[in-house]
Amino acid sequence: MSEIEEFDLLIVGIGIAGLPMAKTYLQVNPAAKLLVLEANQSIGGTWAKERLYEGLQSNNLVGMLEFSDFPMDFETFGVAPGSHVPGTVLHRYLAAYAQRFGVYEKVRFGCYVKSAELKGDGSWEVVYEKKDEDGGTDEVKVVAKKMVLATGTTSGEDMEKSENVVVAGGSKSAADAVYMTASKGRHVDWVIRKSGRGAAWLSWPYVSPFKLQFEKLPTIRAMTLLSPCFDSPSSPIRYLLHNTRLGRALVRGFFSIIHNDMLTLGKFNDHPDTKKLIPPGNVFWSGTSVGIFNYPIDLFSLVQKGLINIHLADVTSLTPETVNLSDGTHLKADTVVLATGWKLAPSIKFLPDSLTSEEKNWNFLPPTFKSQSRRRRQRDFFPISRIARPTPSTWPPRRSLQRTTLLPPLPQLHSPLFHPQ
Ligand SMILES: Cc1cc2nc3c(=O)[nH]c(=O)nc-3n(C[C@H](O)[C@H](O)[C@H](O)COP(=O)(O)OP(=O)(O)OC[C@H]3O[C@@H](n4cnc5c(N)ncnc54)[C@H](O)[C@@H]3O)c2cc1C
Repeated sequence: MSEIEEFDLLIVGIGIAGLPMAKTYLQVNPAAKLLVLEANQSIGGTWAKERLYEGLQSNNLVGMLEFSDFPMDFETFGVAPGSHVPGTVLHRYLAAYAQRFGVYEKVRFGCYVKSAELKGDGSWEVVYEKKDEDGGTDEVKVVAKKMVLATGTTSGEDMEKSENVVVAGGSKSAADAVYMTASKGRHVDWVIRKSGRGAAWLSWPYVSPFKLQFEKLPTIRAMTLLSPCFDSPSSPIRYLLHNTRLGRALVRGFFSIIHNDMLTLGKFNDHPDTKKLIPPGNVFWSGTSVGIFNYPIDLFSLVQKGLINIHLADVTSLTPETVNLSDGTHLKADTVVLATGWKLAPSIKFLPDSLTSEEKNWNFLPPTFKSQSRRRRQRDFFPISRIARPTPSTWPPRRSLQRTTLLPPLPQLHSPLFHPQ
């Protein structure tokens, strides 16, 4: 029996998250033994070569989806300023990055990690499956002192050519599938469930009368003052903006401008079907659930041409040829795309079983937080919610609570699932 290999660090997954992790670890610990296990056959995760499909491009304009020490320059990658980065280019860029920083030779491709067992000394015993040359699979065991999961949250499905396509889901991936079908001249029924939270926001890359680049807004320091933050009472400007009448009016005014601009620029109100894509509630509450119109052909023009029909209803059942909706509609379908999100669970089985119990995963939170009522947690963590429902403010801020319970010393922040202590 061959000896079990041992590593200082194991990274699972070599997408956009695993790649800089591996590179930085190698830079800081050049002598360390690093192993990266990747189920795909190429680098990039979502942007791996085998997962690219025609028309895939990033939501991001060139300059926004790159590492600061490795610019996606025009001479090498050919993306003109103001253009969205095509999926093929992003794959090429990530592969070049891996080569440039010596990550490639650390990666074992086609290796799917099945389980990870936490041992008494804090190391991980990991079992992965590798396809052998005859098409069979080999199981390999390795041991790592530390492990990083960079396994992403999405999976790669692709769509067959088809006449009657039904896409279910209200987010950007659903919009992409709808676009992909309709832009080829094929009809698509887009179903967004009525019982859910409606469509996610779609925005043009530039918003507001100042033509601000939408995706850059969260990276502007001043913008953070206008954003929800549990720490608002500890800074005078935040306090002014979120805990006084005038400040709240300013914040509301700012987000109303962005909100109305997104509606006007998007021309949501120009067609009865595109009206259905207006998300309920202000863009302020959308969090990260915003997609960018990055399509060469205007998505809404395809709605106006009748290539896309939008249904706000729940899918109640499927038959081999129809999708049945809660409003009584029966949609003819030979392909159904479920762009309905992902399973919020790791792809690896963690051992022993007690590791994944809910109680263990909550260990990084301070005990006082767990015992507080839900209302109290909301009040302490999201004072911004006073914008929606103003309540009397508190001054001086509860500094002791924020410093001691919200910012515990670093080791406590590590769940044992990710960093055995
Ligand atoms: C179609 C699509 C378009 C997107 N467009 C954008 C965009 O324009 N802009 C943007 O910012 N984000 C976009 N996203 C979100 C995208 O997921 C992130 O940008 C980013 O690529 C995620 O990187 P990641 O490294 O976290 O995960 P992933 O890219 O998913 O990488 C995870 C890797 O882990 C591997 N893995 C998982 N489990 C195992 C296992 N058990 N064993 C071994 N390997 C494993 C997978 O094979 C994969 O290679 C898009 C996502 C999709 C699906």
